[in-house]
Amino acid sequence: MSNFEYTPPKNAPVSTEEMQNDLKQVAEKLNTDTLTQKLYSEHGKYDVTNLSRRFGTWNRTLATVGLKPGNINNYSDEELFENILSIWQHKGKQPTRRDLSINPSTISHRPYNRRFNSWSHALQSFIEYANQNEVQVNNNNSSEQNKTEKQTSRDPSLRLRFQVLKRDNFTCCQCGASPAKDPNVELHVDHIQPWSKGGETVIENLQTLCLQL
Ligand SMILES: [Zn+2]
Repeated sequence: MSNFEYTPPKNAPVSTEEMQNDLKQVAEKLNTDTLTQKLYSEHGKYDVTNLSRRFGTWNRTLATVGLKPGNINNYSDEELFENILSIWQHKGKQPTRRDLSINPSTISHRPYNRRFNSWSHALQSFIEYANQNEVQVNNNNSSEQNKTEKQTSRDPSLRLRFQVLKRDNFTCCQCGASPAKDPNVELHVDHIQPWSKGGETVIENLQTLCLQL
Protein backbone atom coordinates (compact mmCIF):
# COMPACT_ATOMS: atom_id res chain seq x y z
CA MET A 1 0.00 0.00 0.00
CA SER A 2 1.45 3.36 -1.00
CA ASN A 3 1.50 6.40 1.24
CA PHE A 4 -0.57 9.42 0.42
CA GLU A 5 0.86 12.82 1.07
CA TYR A 6 -1.39 15.74 1.87
CA THR A 7 -0.82 18.77 -0.36
CA PRO A 8 -2.75 21.76 0.89
CA PRO A 9 -4.46 23.81 -1.82
CA LYS A 10 -2.94 27.24 -2.41
CA ASN A 11 -5.67 29.09 -0.57
CA ALA A 12 -6.08 26.71 2.37
CA PRO A 13 -5.89 28.32 5.83
CA VAL A 14 -2.30 28.71 6.86
CA SER A 15 -0.97 29.74 10.24
CA THR A 16 0.86 33.03 10.57
CA GLU A 17 3.93 31.14 11.65
CA GLU A 18 3.93 28.99 8.52
CA MET A 19 3.70 32.07 6.38
CA GLN A 20 6.52 33.79 8.21
CA ASN A 21 8.73 30.72 8.04
CA ASP A 22 8.24 30.49 4.31
CA LEU A 23 9.12 34.19 3.90
CA LYS A 24 12.31 33.65 5.86
CA GLN A 25 13.20 30.57 3.88
CA VAL A 26 12.71 32.31 0.54
CA ALA A 27 14.79 35.28 1.67
CA GLU A 28 17.53 32.95 2.89
CA LYS A 29 17.49 30.90 -0.26
CA LEU A 30 17.79 34.05 -2.39
CA ASN A 31 20.27 35.56 0.05
CA THR A 32 18.42 38.87 0.28
CA ASP A 33 17.19 41.11 3.09
CA THR A 34 14.09 42.23 1.20
CA LEU A 35 11.52 40.63 -1.09
CA THR A 36 9.22 42.11 -3.69
CA GLN A 37 5.81 40.53 -4.09
CA LYS A 38 6.83 39.39 -7.55
CA LEU A 39 9.96 37.66 -6.28
CA TYR A 40 8.09 35.95 -3.47
CA SER A 41 5.37 34.78 -5.87
CA GLU A 42 8.01 33.04 -7.94
CA HIS A 43 9.68 31.27 -5.03
CA GLY A 44 7.22 31.19 -2.13
CA LYS A 45 4.45 28.77 -1.21
CA TYR A 46 1.67 31.16 -0.33
CA ASP A 47 -0.46 33.75 -2.01
CA VAL A 48 1.03 37.27 -1.63
CA THR A 49 -2.40 38.87 -1.26
CA ASN A 50 -3.19 36.62 1.69
CA LEU A 51 0.15 37.38 3.23
CA SER A 52 -0.31 41.13 2.86
CA ARG A 53 -3.82 40.94 4.29
CA ARG A 54 -2.61 39.06 7.33
CA PHE A 55 -0.44 42.00 8.40
CA GLY A 56 -2.05 44.95 6.61
CA THR A 57 0.54 45.62 3.91
CA TRP A 58 3.30 43.74 2.17
CA ASN A 59 6.00 45.84 3.81
CA ARG A 60 4.56 45.22 7.27
CA THR A 61 4.53 41.52 6.51
CA LEU A 62 8.22 41.71 5.67
CA ALA A 63 8.92 43.70 8.83
CA THR A 64 7.47 40.95 11.05
CA VAL A 65 10.32 38.66 10.02
CA GLY A 66 12.98 41.35 10.04
CA LEU A 67 13.09 41.96 6.29
CA LYS A 68 13.39 45.41 4.75
CA PRO A 69 10.52 46.95 2.78
CA GLY A 70 10.23 45.69 -0.78
CA ASN A 71 9.00 47.61 -3.82
CA ILE A 72 10.81 50.79 -2.85
CA ASN A 73 12.81 51.21 -5.98
CA ASN A 74 10.35 53.38 -7.86
CA TYR A 75 11.39 56.65 -6.21
CA SER A 76 14.29 57.72 -4.06
CA ASP A 77 13.59 59.51 -0.77
CA GLU A 78 14.97 62.66 -2.36
CA GLU A 79 12.42 62.42 -5.17
CA LEU A 80 9.56 61.79 -2.77
CA PHE A 81 10.67 64.77 -0.66
CA GLU A 82 11.11 67.00 -3.73
CA ASN A 83 7.52 66.36 -4.65
CA ILE A 84 6.38 67.28 -1.13
CA LEU A 85 8.40 70.49 -1.30
CA SER A 86 6.94 71.35 -4.67
CA ILE A 87 3.37 71.00 -3.38
CA TRP A 88 4.22 72.79 -0.14
CA GLN A 89 5.72 75.69 -2.06
CA HIS A 90 2.70 75.80 -4.35
CA LYS A 91 0.20 75.89 -1.50
CA GLY A 92 2.24 77.91 0.95
CA LYS A 93 1.40 75.38 3.63
CA GLN A 94 1.67 71.72 4.55
CA PRO A 95 0.19 69.49 1.84
CA THR A 96 -2.63 67.06 2.56
CA ARG A 97 -2.87 63.54 1.22
CA ARG A 98 -5.46 64.75 -1.27
CA ASP A 99 -2.96 67.23 -2.76
CA LEU A 100 -0.95 64.27 -4.03
CA SER A 101 -3.50 63.56 -6.72
CA ILE A 102 -3.65 67.10 -8.12
CA ASN A 103 -1.27 69.53 -9.81
CA PRO A 104 1.65 70.15 -9.20
CA SER A 105 2.16 66.74 -7.55
CA THR A 106 3.75 64.19 -9.85
CA ILE A 107 3.72 61.25 -7.41
CA SER A 108 0.59 59.55 -6.07
CA HIS A 109 0.11 58.53 -2.45
CA ARG A 110 1.03 54.89 -3.16
CA PRO A 111 4.82 55.25 -3.28
CA TYR A 112 4.62 57.29 -0.04
CA ASN A 113 2.62 54.54 1.64
CA ARG A 114 5.02 51.90 0.42
CA ARG A 115 8.03 53.79 1.68
CA PHE A 116 6.66 55.36 4.88
CA ASN A 117 3.54 53.26 5.59
CA SER A 118 1.33 56.35 5.75
CA TRP A 119 1.11 59.90 4.50
CA SER A 120 1.54 61.36 7.98
CA HIS A 121 4.74 59.35 8.44
CA ALA A 122 5.94 60.62 5.08
CA LEU A 123 5.36 64.22 6.19
CA GLN A 124 7.08 63.61 9.51
CA SER A 125 10.09 62.11 7.75
CA PHE A 126 10.20 65.02 5.35
CA ILE A 127 10.17 67.56 8.18
CA GLU A 128 12.80 65.65 10.15
CA TYR A 129 14.97 65.56 7.06
CA ALA A 130 14.40 69.26 6.29
CA ASN A 131 15.18 70.34 9.84
CA GLN A 132 18.55 68.62 9.96
CA ASN A 133 21.55 70.87 9.70
CA GLU A 134 23.15 71.27 6.35
CA VAL A 135 26.47 69.51 6.00
CA GLN A 136 28.89 71.83 4.30
CA VAL A 137 31.34 70.37 1.90
CA ASN A 138 34.70 71.98 2.01
CA ASN A 139 36.50 71.84 -1.29
CA ASN A 140 39.54 73.84 -0.19
CA ASN A 141 42.24 71.39 -1.11
CA SER A 142 41.15 70.83 -4.71
CA SER A 143 43.34 72.01 -7.60
CA GLU A 144 45.65 75.05 -7.45
CA GLN A 145 43.72 76.62 -10.30
CA ASN A 146 40.55 76.71 -8.25
CA LYS A 147 41.19 79.97 -6.42
CA THR A 148 37.57 80.83 -5.80
CA GLU A 149 37.71 79.36 -2.28
CA LYS A 150 34.04 78.48 -2.45
CA GLN A 151 32.71 76.63 0.55
CA THR A 152 29.40 75.68 -0.99
CA SER A 153 27.97 74.53 -4.30
CA ARG A 154 25.78 76.79 -6.36
CA ASP A 155 22.43 75.04 -6.10
CA PRO A 156 20.80 75.06 -2.68
CA SER A 157 19.77 71.60 -1.50
CA LEU A 158 16.18 70.63 -0.98
CA ARG A 159 16.71 71.06 2.76
CA LEU A 160 18.09 74.56 2.37
CA ARG A 161 15.34 75.61 -0.05
CA PHE A 162 12.68 74.42 2.35
CA GLN A 163 14.30 76.28 5.24
CA VAL A 164 14.50 79.52 3.25
CA LEU A 165 10.90 79.25 2.01
CA LYS A 166 9.66 78.54 5.52
CA ARG A 167 11.64 81.44 6.99
CA ASP A 168 10.14 83.75 4.35
CA ASN A 169 6.62 82.37 4.89
CA PHE A 170 6.43 81.15 1.28
CA THR A 171 6.25 84.76 0.19
CA CYS A 172 8.35 86.78 -2.27
CA CYS A 173 10.78 88.97 -0.33
CA GLN A 174 10.52 91.77 -2.88
CA CYS A 175 6.83 92.11 -3.71
CA GLY A 176 5.05 89.94 -1.15
CA ALA A 177 3.43 87.68 -3.75
CA SER A 178 2.60 84.16 -2.61
CA PRO A 179 1.08 81.07 -4.24
CA ALA A 180 -1.31 80.78 -1.31
CA LYS A 181 -2.91 84.08 -2.41
CA ASP A 182 -2.35 83.70 -6.17
CA PRO A 183 -1.93 80.18 -7.58
CA ASN A 184 -0.13 81.60 -10.62
CA VAL A 185 2.79 82.76 -8.52
CA GLU A 186 5.86 80.54 -8.64
CA LEU A 187 8.52 80.92 -6.00
CA HIS A 188 12.18 80.13 -6.17
CA VAL A 189 15.14 80.48 -3.88
CA ASP A 190 17.76 82.97 -5.00
CA HIS A 191 21.16 84.20 -3.83
CA ILE A 192 21.22 87.69 -2.26
CA GLN A 193 24.86 88.24 -3.09
CA PRO A 194 25.20 86.39 -6.43
CA TRP A 195 27.07 83.13 -6.30
CA SER A 196 29.17 84.25 -9.26
CA LYS A 197 30.32 87.25 -7.20
CA GLY A 198 31.43 85.28 -4.20
CA GLY A 199 28.09 84.77 -2.47
CA GLU A 200 27.81 81.47 -0.66
CA THR A 201 24.88 79.08 -0.71
CA VAL A 202 23.98 79.48 2.95
CA ILE A 203 20.66 80.37 4.51
CA GLU A 204 21.77 83.92 5.35
CA ASN A 205 22.57 84.60 1.69
CA LEU A 206 19.38 83.12 0.26
CA GLN A 207 15.95 84.63 -0.21
CA THR A 208 12.59 83.71 -1.64
CA LEU A 209 11.63 85.51 -4.85
CA CYS A 210 8.74 85.12 -7.25
CA LEU A 211 9.51 84.19 -10.84
CA GLN A 212 9.32 87.24 -13.05
CA LEU A 213 7.52 86.01 -16.13
ZN1 LIG B 1 7.94 89.12 -6.16
